[in-house]
Amino acid sequence: MALAVTPLGCSAMYATADVAASGYLVEVDGFTLWMDAGGGTWQKLLSAVDYADVNGMFLTHRHPDHTIDLFQFFHARLYGGRDLVPIPLWAPEETLERITAYSTELAQTFDLTAVSGDTVLDIGGGKATFVDMDHPVQTCGLRLQHDGAVLAYTADTGPTSDFHVLGHDADVVICEATFQDSDRPWWEGHMSATQAGRMANDVGASRLVLSHLPPTRDHQVSLREAVSEAGATGVELAEPGKRIEVGR
Ligand SMILES: [Zn+2]
Ligand SMILES: [Zn+2]
Repeated sequence: MALAVTPLGCSAMYATADVAASGYLVEVDGFTLWMDAGGGTWQKLLSAVDYADVNGMFLTHRHPDHTIDLFQFFHARLYGGRDLVPIPLWAPEETLERITAYSTELAQTFDLTAVSGDTVLDIGGGKATFVDMDHPVQTCGLRLQHDGAVLAYTADTGPTSDFHVLGHDADVVICEATFQDSDRPWWEGHMSATQAGRMANDVGASRLVLSHLPPTRDHQVSLREAVSEAGATGVELAEPGKRIEVGR
């Protein structure tokens, strides 16, 4: 499969007993990308792949529910006796500053590369376009295009991002849906499921995967609220471990 994504976790803010925080395994034509590393995702990743086979990593922003399992990966790469060559780690500048302050030896095992809203680069032969998102800290979403298939990931975001650039005509949009309608007024820098559904329909996405789901709420409510605004876009809840083939 040329392009596929497997959620490792989808719990907003923190992991629960059963569900890890945000993280995804993305396959681009044989290239394996670990995208966001919230708490619990490292162990989910190990149940899916050998960590030595991960070819690159992308952290959308510095918040702990998207980064803390990086350090498990780092220690395994450094001390696991596998003699691994450095792999790319893409992240916003602010994220790189924070994680390297925490562990100064990260550059021994990662090729640290800053990305921002005007970055376009090649990942596994796919075109990766990074987009600045509406969140209190520097945050990048990702549009990944390979062989006509398009995967878009909003990361954490409020409703004022340029979703058209990120997700126009995408086969699959993974969108955060931290809130439900009854939470109004909500914090800035996050979306409700209703807003996620409306956005996915606006950009012409075929399929919307709701993620960053509230750990204390009934996710079927989030699903219903997104469906009510999603028009022809198919809507589903992220399911950790369920592989999604993009563009099929
Ligand atoms: Zn988050
Ligand atoms: Zn965040």
